[in-house]
Amino acid sequence: MSDFRNFINGEWVSTGKTFENRNPVDNSLIGMVHEAGKAEVGAAVDAARAALKGPWGKLKVEDRVELLHAIADGINANFDEFLAAEMADTGKPHGLASHVDIPRGAANFKVFADLIRNVPTESFGMDTPDGGHAINYAVRAPRGVIGVVCPWNLPLLLMTWKVGPALATGNTVVVKPSEETPATATLLGKVMNDVGVPAGVYNVVHGFGPDSAGEFLTTHPGVDGITFTGETRTGEAIMRAAASGVRPVSFELGGKNAGIVFADCDFDKAVAGIARSTFENSGQVCLGTERVYVQRPIFEKFVAALKQRAEGFKLGDPNDHSTNFGPLVSQEHRRKVLSYYEKARAEGATIVTGGGVPTMPGRMSEGAWVQPTIWTGLPQTASVIREEIFGPCCHITPFDTEEEAVNMANATPYGLAATVWTQDVSVAHRMGRALEVGICWVNSWFLRDLRTSFGGAKQSGIGREGGVHSLEFYTELRNVCIKL
Ligand code: NAD
Repeated sequence: MSDFRNFINGEWVSTGKTFENRNPVDNSLIGMVHEAGKAEVGAAVDAARAALKGPWGKLKVEDRVELLHAIADGINANFDEFLAAEMADTGKPHGLASHVDIPRGAANFKVFADLIRNVPTESFGMDTPDGGHAINYAVRAPRGVIGVVCPWNLPLLLMTWKVGPALATGNTVVVKPSEETPATATLLGKVMNDVGVPAGVYNVVHGFGPDSAGEFLTTHPGVDGITFTGETRTGEAIMRAAASGVRPVSFELGGKNAGIVFADCDFDKAVAGIARSTFENSGQVCLGTERVYVQRPIFEKFVAALKQRAEGFKLGDPNDHSTNFGPLVSQEHRRKVLSYYEKARAEGATIVTGGGVPTMPGRMSEGAWVQPTIWTGLPQTASVIREEIFGPCCHITPFDTEEEAVNMANATPYGLAATVWTQDVSVAHRMGRALEVGICWVNSWFLRDLRTSFGGAKQSGIGREGGVHSLEFYTELRNVCIKL
């Protein structure tokens, strides 16, 4: 059994208070997690501040870049350990975690290491009123100690997506992983020590949100900026905490993403694409599709084809390489998803497939499983069309015109992502401009170039991360004006 301790100033810190970490595949106990209190969070913030003022702050960019590459190499060198930890915490199938979570966890350090080596700074020459000249140039200074608050759905990937650019730009971090998935953030502490990252640069504090490590970290006045991925409601609480001291936030929040399928699409690719965007990671991807709009001429055929896909998933042991559908992250999350399955029924949905709990063999019957589910027939006011469920389910609505599809897709307070399927390049461009989202994929989904901006419109987030956009949050731009 594992013991998940806090990682503070390069050391493993136990606390008197622990909570359980369970595997959602069969509800077995993975280990105990040491919950950080105010004192531990304070010690982590102090260590991060000291590292900033000490060896880390003094490091040459080239040496920082080298260390970031060493961290990525360290993750890859311990690939199997990271993979096993992520799979146990989340129940993700081997194919997904080994192709997405862990490789991207390593890549996030390399991408930002390379970026920081090559990023230019702006400079402007100017004429001065006395007939002389002046030159302005920009210096990017690290923001300071960054509080990193993470969700459970892609634990290593989303955490390193923040820690990578934060460290590349010279900040230090205190990470609060989700209480559901403490393992890979903890393992990364070992890599940091092994490759020689100075103590205090990367710290991990475990615990929950309110009245626990999450709140203690985000309300701590020694934190200079907070980057958060999670639910919009939690974002509101963190924003209130950040108001004290006027500290900046970068938020990647919830979504209720639309998939729009035009009659002229490449049908098989569209079905495969929407099957992926709806069901990958058992629907627990922030970019995932929960509202599908299909043009009327192909509506019936599309619903039948997606049903066949949903019924073709292999649920099972994540270590079995043929398994391509895992459980939800926890019993608690399953209760939430099943409450929506119930609401859909109560509101009169046609259940195309699923809608309940699958029968799983042996020990897996104790796990957090739900069936892949498709509904049709509900009005746009229905709960499962309006609210984020974060499960393997979607509602499919027919549409006639492009304008109607855009209006329905935009009728939500969220605006994270969309996936559009069409062969008409003009429609593709028009949709890209009309949809109120941060990311619009056409004939694809979750195709990520890490240099591009990532973030949500409306209540799906504040700010953009990715490539040079990450610099906006992780650095302070300072203009130096020199009269020549
Ligand atoms: P969550 O908001 O419940 O928790 C996220 C983190 O915040 C956890 O570490 C939690 O302990 C912490 N937290 C909770 N309350 C807090 C508080 N008051 N103060 C400080 N910290 C607090 O989210 P979740 O259930 O872990 O993740 C699922 C959600 O994340 C979904 O809404 C999903 O859409 C969203 N998400 C968004 C993106 C994106 O890029 N936009 C990516 C992944 C997940």
